[in-house]
Amino acid sequence: MQQRRLIYLDNNATTPCDPRVVDAMIPYFYEKHGNAASRSHQFGWEAEDAVDYAREQIAQLLNVEDKEIIFTSGATEANNLALKGVFEMYSRKGNHIITVETEHKAILDTCKHLEKSGAEVTYLKVGEDGLISLADLEAAIKPTTILVSVMWANNETGVIQPMREIAQICEKHGVLFHSDATQAVGKIKTHPREIGVHLLSFTAHKMYGPKGVGALYVSRKNPRVKVTAQMDGGGHERGMRSGTLNVPGIVGFGKAAEIARLEMDQDAARISKLRDHLEQELVKLEETKVNGNVNSRMPHVSNISFKHVEGEGLMMTFNQNIAVSSGSACTSASLEPSYVLVGMGLGDDLAHSSIRFSLGRLTTEEEVNSAIELVRNGVNHMRELSPIWEMYQDGVDLTKIEWSAH
Ligand SMILES: *Cc1c(COP(=O)(O)O)cnc(C)c1O
Repeated sequence: MQQRRLIYLDNNATTPCDPRVVDAMIPYFYEKHGNAASRSHQFGWEAEDAVDYAREQIAQLLNVEDKEIIFTSGATEANNLALKGVFEMYSRKGNHIITVETEHKAILDTCKHLEKSGAEVTYLKVGEDGLISLADLEAAIKPTTILVSVMWANNETGVIQPMREIAQICEKHGVLFHSDATQAVGKIKTHPREIGVHLLSFTAHKMYGPKGVGALYVSRKNPRVKVTAQMDGGGHERGMRSGTLNVPGIVGFGKAAEIARLEMDQDAARISKLRDHLEQELVKLEETKVNGNVNSRMPHVSNISFKHVEGEGLMMTFNQNIAVSSGSACTSASLEPSYVLVGMGLGDDLAHSSIRFSLGRLTTEEEVNSAIELVRNGVNHMRELSPIWEMYQDGVDLTKIEWSAH
């Protein structure tokens, strides 16, 4: 019996590990199992050499110094270290942080935490296209501002913020600039020093590496940035992050960075063609809308709203043949519409009707063609069953209807 193959279009949630990455890791579980901090024998030296080499591979991807890479357990920890670490280290200079409403929860929840510790946080709004306004950013800066944190590319829409312009504003006002670049590193060029980003978070498992390992880039000169450790202990990672290093994970992260540096251009060219094909076919359906600025967007992402079609219901029609994400964030009891899409001015209904397609290195043309068929059939099926769609087609102005029960 042939196994049904699930089409994976959820690469923004996590990417599969590249087999070359797994192969590089395996010796570090077996014969090379040492602790990179053991200075007195061969096992330790081997592990330390492997970590040094991975640090170089990662530094090369970002075009920075290897000493500027601090290993963490992932991007969540890197974001926590950047924000909390800067807040504590620069508390004498001020307590004001500027970020954006559409950031990842790892940024927003960290800011909420810091507010309880005396931080003042400004959350910038975004336009319909998902981009911040540079004028709003500059207007928000004040003498107590110590940090601006803006993500490089959004995880739900793939929208890329104007990094260089943001950096110029930060430079002009002498404010540190952090970016959660988790969705961008390894897929598009991300050179923080060249752009003017002082701290940069990223993670291996969004770039074909293993889960549970990430890094924070911290600029060591012009400016020399320091962050207060959030994890105390043996003083690993130049004292900024204690804890025994995840040697196999770091080795895999390094290999993933090397592959990305060498192959990202050809991957992006191939994947963006597939993404464009998917998008062009799906927007032929009536009442569809691509969310986010399509001229400043990652090559592998398409976020589409199918009006009057509930996203979670649409996903059921795929009958587990496509893995995607919907614009409804499943919180404890209710389905909340995505705050990212709501922040871009989509109403709750349009947010609920949106699907995020995120393609990847392993996505094939056949898979994209099958996905187009499945989505097209699903949308048509849902609309055939929908009284609202029928009213819409009969020309009823749905905005004028009173939906109350009495
Ligand atoms: C996935 C993701 C994170 C969290 O990364 P982990 O390594 O899983 O902690 C943070 N920010 C963005 C934008 C992400 O997409």
